[in-house]
Amino acid sequence: MARHWTRRQVLAQAGIAAAAIHTLDPHELCCAPPAHAATHDKDLFELKKVGDGVYAAIAAPAYKVNSNAAVIVTNDGVIVVDSHSKPSAARAVYQQIQAVAKQPVRKIVNTHFHWDHWQGNQVYTSSGQAVEVIASERTKENLTRPDAGVGGVPFIAKQLAALPAEIETLKQEAGRATDPQTKSRIESNLRQAEAYLDELKQLKPALPTRTVSTTQTVTEGGRDIQLHVLGRGHTDGDLYIYLPKEKVVVTGDALIDWMPFLNDGYPEEWVRTLDALERLDFTHIIPGHGDVLPKSHLAFFRGYLSDLIAGVKKAASDGATLDE
Ligand SMILES: [Zn+2]
Ligand SMILES: [Zn+2]
Repeated sequence: MARHWTRRQVLAQAGIAAAAIHTLDPHELCCAPPAHAATHDKDLFELKKVGDGVYAAIAAPAYKVNSNAAVIVTNDGVIVVDSHSKPSAARAVYQQIQAVAKQPVRKIVNTHFHWDHWQGNQVYTSSGQAVEVIASERTKENLTRPDAGVGGVPFIAKQLAALPAEIETLKQEAGRATDPQTKSRIESNLRQAEAYLDELKQLKPALPTRTVSTTQTVTEGGRDIQLHVLGRGHTDGDLYIYLPKEKVVVTGDALIDWMPFLNDGYPEEWVRTLDALERLDFTHIIPGHGDVLPKSHLAFFRGYLSDLIAGVKKAASDGATLDE
């Protein structure tokens, strides 16, 4: 009798592209390499102009990784896509926004439910202005679903439970380190982990106030902003923000600069969803992590996913599929 593996088991068993698959530890960093840079608030993000009134806030490597943000300035207010892993990071971006736009932030869009993309929402919603938080219907559900994966309100409690042990391990590693460079890197990570724990204890989750379940256009201050629900991929609720005039698309982690995080994903459907994304007319991608990318990166990224799926299928010779 054929064994029926879950998608995660197939990915884990196949043993290929181990770096992309990561481990199955739910407390693991989502989506990007855990870097070890000592980063000050003012250096957390580099704001890059991508089009007229469109900016990418590119996150610097950090021990507790931050997502990028996209900043869309209209005549009537600013729309920010994604709010990173912590309020201090969102505040750092907010300060940079104020340098390029005189308008208040009116809308936050969360591309998906992962912890490193929404935990800073409260910075905008507590600004005293009326701020809408927009996400897909599925992402809103995932943000409160206990078994959703690496994000949402229940995942905050999981992180709070895991962080003291993580901090203790870092302390021990710092104590054992003899090489000054290694010691200083671990001590920086330790400071970041402790600061992150403090922030997480105070976190006031700001959940979506408006959801979309099919593609729709939001007109804000004379600018057309399309919100696309294209299918499952990195998660089952990925939202793409598309600016047809400026030919820019904001993809969250459904399209990033390097290897994707797969644990909450649907690899085979992801490839088809990227086909649908490719049909949009754009030149620039603001990804969830990494620098601004040209449209040609989509084919490269999709090719990587396809190769990964082919490798897994070859390994899973008993007929299990990725979507099981
Ligand atoms: Zn991410
Ligand atoms: Zn993600």
